[in-house]
Parts: sequence; C-alpha cells; structure tokens
Amino acid sequence: MALRSYVNGSWATPSAQGAPLLDAVTGEQVATISSAGIDMGAALEYGRAAGGPALRELTFHQRAAMLKSVGLFLREYRAELYSLSARTGATLLDSKLDVDGGIGVLLSYASKGRRDLPNDTVLLDGDAEQLSKDGQFLGQHFFTPRHGVAVQVNAFNFPVWGPLEKFAPAFLAGVPSLVKPARSTAYLTARLVELIVESGLLPEGSLQLVCGSAGDLFDHLTDQDLVSFTGSASTAQRLRTKPTVVARAVPFNAEADSLNCSILGPDAAPGTPEFDLYVRQLVTEMTVKAGQKCTAIRRALVPDSLLDAVAEAASARLAKVVVGNPADESVQMGALASLDQRDEVRRSLKALLSAGTAVFGDPEHVEVVDADAHRGAFMSPVLIRADDAGRAGPHEVEAFGPVSTVIGYRDTAHAIDLAARGLGSLVGSVVTGDADFARDVVIGVAPWHGRLLVLDQDDAAESTGHGSPLPMLVHGRAGARRWAVSAASPTTCSAPPSRPARGCSRRLPAAGCRAANAPSTGPIRSGSRLPSCGWEIRSWPGRGR
Ligand code: NAP
Repeated sequence: MALRSYVNGSWATPSAQGAPLLDAVTGEQVATISSAGIDMGAALEYGRAAGGPALRELTFHQRAAMLKSVGLFLREYRAELYSLSARTGATLLDSKLDVDGGIGVLLSYASKGRRDLPNDTVLLDGDAEQLSKDGQFLGQHFFTPRHGVAVQVNAFNFPVWGPLEKFAPAFLAGVPSLVKPARSTAYLTARLVELIVESGLLPEGSLQLVCGSAGDLFDHLTDQDLVSFTGSASTAQRLRTKPTVVARAVPFNAEADSLNCSILGPDAAPGTPEFDLYVRQLVTEMTVKAGQKCTAIRRALVPDSLLDAVAEAASARLAKVVVGNPADESVQMGALASLDQRDEVRRSLKALLSAGTAVFGDPEHVEVVDADAHRGAFMSPVLIRADDAGRAGPHEVEAFGPVSTVIGYRDTAHAIDLAARGLGSLVGSVVTGDADFARDVVIGVAPWHGRLLVLDQDDAAESTGHGSPLPMLVHGRAGARRWAVSAASPTTCSAPPSRPARGCSRRLPAAGCRAANAPSTGPIRSGSRLPSCGWEIRSWPGRGR
C-alpha cells in the first residue's frame, strides 16, 4: 500500500515507487512512502487561500467546538489506531499514551478555547491604553490569526499525539495546518488524518498531509507561514537556517533533543518512599515507548553515597521487564520504531559507554517473547553508571531509546551544575521529601529547564509523572541547549497549588506555582507561549512592539 498525501482538497497517490516502511516487530512491509508528484507550493497556497479564510470566519468558540467534535469522533476509532500503533513497536500502554494523549490534547484545547477565549474572531491583548489627557484618544492591542499555513514537521515517536499537539493550537488560533510526519511511522499519522478528513467535521483546507520527503516545501514559505518542528537538533539546525526561512523571517519553533535529568535528594535513602518513587520512575521512563520519549530521563543525578543503591535497585527492576511482541499480554516493553533507529541508539551508546559502565543490559543482545529479536527492532534497556560525573558523554549525547545514565553528585550546587550541563531540557524532576533541597534545586536549575516535577510521597498518587506532557502546562523548552536561551524562564512546578505538595508551593515563591496554571487561568496575552499556533500581535494605533 502506497501512503497517500492529502493536499489541495484531495488524496494524492505518489507518482513514483516509494520507500518501504517496515513493521517494527515482524519486519514485514506495512506500506511504502513517497511524496513524488506533490506540488508543495500549490499545497501551501491552497491552505492560505481555502483553509485560512474559512477558519478566520469562525469564532474561537466555534473552532473549539470543532476540535471537541473531532476528539469525540476519533475516540470511536481508538481500537483501530491502537492496532496500527502496535506495528510501530508500541505496547497497548504506549499506544494509549499516543492515541488517547492526542485526543486529550484536542479536548483540552477545545475546553480552553471555550473557557479562556471570547466568542469572537479577535482577542484583545490587555486593557486599552490611554494616550491623551482627556481619554478621547486610546490604543488597544489585539491578536489576529496569521494569513499563512502552520507547517508541522513531526518526529517518529508520537505519530498521533505529535501532530495533534501542534494542530490543536493552530486550529484554535485560526491558522490552517500542513502536517509532515516522520517517515518510519507515517502510516499511523496517515490513517489519523484519513479519519479526520472522512469525518467531514473540519473546514476544507484547514488540515493537509504530506507523506514522504518535504521536497522543496520550505522554498515556498512566506512571512505569514510558520514552522513547528519536532525532531533532532541537527535537523532543526538545517531547517531553521534554510535561506527562505532566514530571508523571510519565517517563525520557527523547534522541539529537539533533550537530556532530561531526574535528581534524587540526599534525604531519600533506601527505605524511604522517595527512594522507591525515584527508582520506579526511572525504570518507567526508560521502558515506556522503549525510551523513545522526548521527556524520558536520560540522566539520573543521585548523591554519590546513593549511587550503588540506585544502580542496584533500578537494575533489579529492569531485570523484571519483559521485552517482546506488544501483542503478547505479558510484554511490558515493545520494539524501537525501526531497525535504523536501533542502529542509531547503539551508535549513541558507544559514546555513552566510553564515559561509564553498563550496570544493566547488553546493547547487542536481548531476550524477547513471541518475536524474532533480529527481524524486529528490539533492544534491552541499558543502564549506565558514569565513571566520572564531569565527563561530557551523558551530558551531550542523547541515545533515543531505553537508555539512561546514573551520575553521582557531591552536594546541591554540584547537582545543579550537572543538571545545567544538559544545556536546557524539556522536563526535569526532583524527588525528595526535603523542602529546602527542592527549593534550592528548582530555583537553581530553572534557567535551563522547561517543566519541573517535584515528586514526594504526598503528591505521588496524583502526579502524572516525570514524562507526561500536559496540554494545560508549558511543554518545556527543549532544544534550548542548541539555541539561544531566552531571558524569561518558563519554568513551571507540577504540584497543584490547591493542594500543595511538600517542598513545592509551601516553600517556593508563590509565583512559581501560579505559573503552572497561568496558561489555563489567564487570557492569552502578548508573550504567551503558544509557539506553534500562529498568533500575531497587531498594534493600533501604529505602536510597534
Ligand atoms: P529527525 O530525523 O530530526 O526528523 C524529524 C522530522 O524532520 C521528520 O519528520 C523528518 O522527516 C524531518 N526532516 C528531516 N530532514 C528534513 C528536511 N531536510 N526537510 C524537511 N523535513 C526533514 O528526528 P527523528 O529521528 O524523527 O526524531 C528523533 C528526535 O526527536 C530525537 O532526537 C528526540 O529528542 C526528538 N524529539 C524531541 C521532542 C521534543 O518535544 N523535544 C519530541 C519527540 C522527539 P523524515 O522522517 O521523512 O526524514
């Protein structure tokens, strides 16, 4: 089956033989992929000419209602999406994260659109500014949608959630989307878009899909378009420096590699609930989606005195993880998304192992259930113990698979320094029952991190965990390690202010916790972080920003 693209209001079959896409578990061919024959410029123009005007006629509430209808519609097709997702190597739990998570994003944005935005087509930005003595001459800032297309380039690891997470805010903002999935799992995104198109719930032109290479897509971008990218830092670098992007100042938002850390407090010795929480979370983050999560813990920072205990406890848990065919109910970790991806992880592991020792797992060997370990992209979880906390490898190399490195720190300042060595990560966590330690670490690492989870025995039962991106919170600022660091840190604290967790809102400055809920309670204002959506600030009368 050749994957089709959805452009210019119809389904396009590739004009040339495509590259094969293989089942990550069995190695069988699932589909072929090629974008040959697609006129990228025409697709962008169609989005601008058909999708944009149709969306701009609708109020926020009407767009929100459509997002909700699509979310409810997709819920009826979850079983089909799960079974296709299994072919990407995902277990049922992994598939639910991707599919239900993606549907959840649609419903969350629908609800935010109805609650936080007006039933209007423009959004006021703050109060009117008095510009004259008598108040007859006023200024008012407001937001209107851009007149371009939101080009959304996605990574392979979340073929449903990834596109929906970008599409929902763009749609709510009144900007049409053109989705380009990563090739290895594009068959799942293609089915998702097929379902949405079949539903007939969205205005024509508001969602397009290009399966296969982006070709000359970027050459046709204008200053009204924008790009939202998820993937590796090196691809982001290539795309954001494309001549058209630079010359036309096309807004470019990148979510790239992230060397997330999880810091264990010195108080959390073996036998404490926090120690167990830490080890359980580390193993979960290594094995869910076979570690192919942008939020997975890559660096486990623990006090020097607890290094052995953490390595041993995590290894004991990892030894119980059953790897194999996700269709088998006993299996807890499936395959990586492709054989290429497994090769890539093994390559990255070489760099990591030059700076440490594997305390669990063999990168070249794994026992699997109900599958062929060579035909499928299977791999053992690998836990590494860093020989020297200061060596570059674990702070610079991301092995995008079931891999993590345990690193010892001397004291709080050293832990903060090591966390910062990742040069900005999407999410971090601090696991401790010591409020002062939590406070020092949160404030110390804030300039480098997106979302920070403070985890202890009090909030553990309600916490969604280190690796769950929540549509109500800022996703993070991954990729910052390769790009300029912004002055305003969007650090959020995941503990709910209404029921403060120990070490969180009781001790942190109140603003730290209020920030966590800011996107859901306040109006979207100038500087709000909806980077992929396409808001534009227009000033009247003529005051620039
Ligand atoms: P990738 O190789 O960089 O690819 C990402 C996307 O870019 C794919 O859709 C790819 O398409 C596309 N692409 C590559 N070259 C392109 C070009 N010249 N023009 C236009 N598009 C191009 O990354 P990946 O292997 O899919 O994903 C793994 C990486 O994603 C990891 O490093 C991970 O950290 C990162 N990630 C980050 C987040 C986050 O939120 N921070 C989330 C998930 C993943 P093709 O597949 O067709 O080449």
